[in-house]
Order: sequence, then structure tokens, then C-alpha cells
Amino acid sequence: MKVIRTLEDPTAELRVELRQHANNYFSYRLFAREGSRWKPSKACFKFEFSSYAGAFVRAARELPWLANAVGAASNDSRHAYHLELSRGLAFRFATFSAMDFANDHDHCIACMAKFADFESDGILHEGFVTKYVIPDGSGHWQWNWVCAACFRDFQESLAWRLEPAG
Ligand SMILES: [Zn+2]
Repeated sequence: MKVIRTLEDPTAELRVELRQHANNYFSYRLFAREGSRWKPSKACFKFEFSSYAGAFVRAARELPWLANAVGAASNDSRHAYHLELSRGLAFRFATFSAMDFANDHDHCIACMAKFADFESDGILHEGFVTKYVIPDGSGHWQWNWVCAACFRDFQESLAWRLEPAG
């Protein structure tokens, strides 16, 4: 088991650990401060999730402060709740095309820069793309895009993996 993200509530009395397990499942665990130690909360969350995003979304539903804690823990305004959900995903470099990606445009999930295959000011044509499984239990997925600048800025802190193009 590996703790891959720790977040605390605004009073620093509660802490959530997001964990990745050997069988590639994810879970979360709540702790409460007790003096200088963290004690596992009686509200013990034993669910297992097939994705980090799934575990995080469920944790944020149980603990409403969690979504805001992401932004509060970062000094970069791009690193908000929705970007955090992409932690650990595998991206590949790709050229945006409306036909291949079944969408006439898309946006960088971090800075909202626009991808499209027409020419216009500020339009990006290439970036990093991942298949993001929507963490609502439906099994549906969507393409999530990240621009080159954001990929460089967050690749390490969000543990993004880079796969060969193709
Ligand atoms: Zn961006």
C-alpha cells in the first residue's frame, strides 16, 4: 500500500489519505488529530475503487471540505479539484482532430486553453491526451487534454505517465 495524496481540512484537525494498493485498487482513509498524532477515524472507509478519481470523488462526497482542500494546498490556481482527479493517468502526445476525437474542440483541463483543428488565435493543435474514465460508476469515459505547458508543469506533481504516441 502506498499513500499517494494527503490532504487536511482547514482546521488541520482532519486528514485524508488517498491510497493505492498492490492490486491497483484505490481507497481513502480519514484520520483525526489527537495531540501530535493522527488517529484513524472511527468512520473507517473500507471501499475499494478502480481509479484514483473514483476514490477521490467518493471521499469528497463524504467530506465536503476535501474538494477545496486541493486548491488550498497548492500555490498554483490551475491545481484545483478537477485537475487532481487526473493524478497518475497515462497520457500520449497527440494532434487534435475533430474526427479522431469526436469533438469539434476541447480544452486543457488545467488552464482551459482551447484545442481545435481550425486555425485561429490561441488555438492549440497538439497536446497530451488521456482516456479519463468518468468516476460515476457508469464506465463511460472521455478524452482529457492537457497543453504542453501544463503537462510540463504538472507531470511530476500529478505523477502523470507518458506513453509512446500512436
Ligand atoms: Zn494548459
